[in-house]
Amino acid sequence: SHSWDREAIQLVQTMIPKETVLFIADAKISFDSFRDGMTATVNSKTIITVNPDTREASLLFSYAKEVSESGALDQDEKPEDVPVDSITDVYTVSQLKQKAQENPEAFFGITYSFMSRLDIDSSVSKVIKTRCSRCKFLVTEDAQSCTNMLCSGRDQALLATTGFDLPVDITDHTGTLHACSLRSPVAENILGCTTNEFTSLNDNERTAMKWKFLLERCKIYVKITPSTKLRSGTRGVVLACSVADPGEVKQHMSALLQRL
Ligand SMILES: [Zn+2]
Repeated sequence: SHSWDREAIQLVQTMIPKETVLFIADAKISFDSFRDGMTATVNSKTIITVNPDTREASLLFSYAKEVSESGALDQDEKPEDVPVDSITDVYTVSQLKQKAQENPEAFFGITYSFMSRLDIDSSVSKVIKTRCSRCKFLVTEDAQSCTNMLCSGRDQALLATTGFDLPVDITDHTGTLHACSLRSPVAENILGCTTNEFTSLNDNERTAMKWKFLLERCKIYVKITPSTKLRSGTRGVVLACSVADPGEVKQHMSALLQRL
């Protein structure tokens, strides 16, 4: 092959996925029916700059990182979600993690565990978030237009969605699943209030709401998606959560122990 081919391949091999911004000048952009998407082909005229020191590159990098870590884009996967009633498989936290390692597809399960982190008593901006409906970028509630320079609707009036969006940790005797997403509309059902009602609660009321869950073993329905983007290797989304019936917990715990 050509020397520029070899150079490009060597360059690409040194890049860390999701950590590199490329500025590519003079590449051939075409539709690739095999990959079902647009692809860029380099040739001898192509100039590739890795992590260019420009404002656009740094914005693009922080945008991609924020969106991919928040899981905001995963919300669009909803159609494949199943009704909570149809989820019956019970797991311990370590079994959920193990299954995610062995199996690249998303799965659903129930875990009888504790919410060991539920920061609903921190600042409201960490609990309720407003995102641009077009690109999912975080925006302030009073913004007139999307602040993401790369948003397709940047020149138009902001079209935004506001909802609960916070990370929760789920713990049982086998371990902890960190930073599972708790979002609207599931969060409204669990917390028993709307975002507007939540905003009007005082600190004591929010702390009381938090401890209602922290001290109790809960029946938590989760969707687990193995994710190479995250250090933990898994992304968890809470689909439902209620304080567990003690009799039900006992029955499932003895069943889980017998399987060991
Ligand atoms: Zn946007």
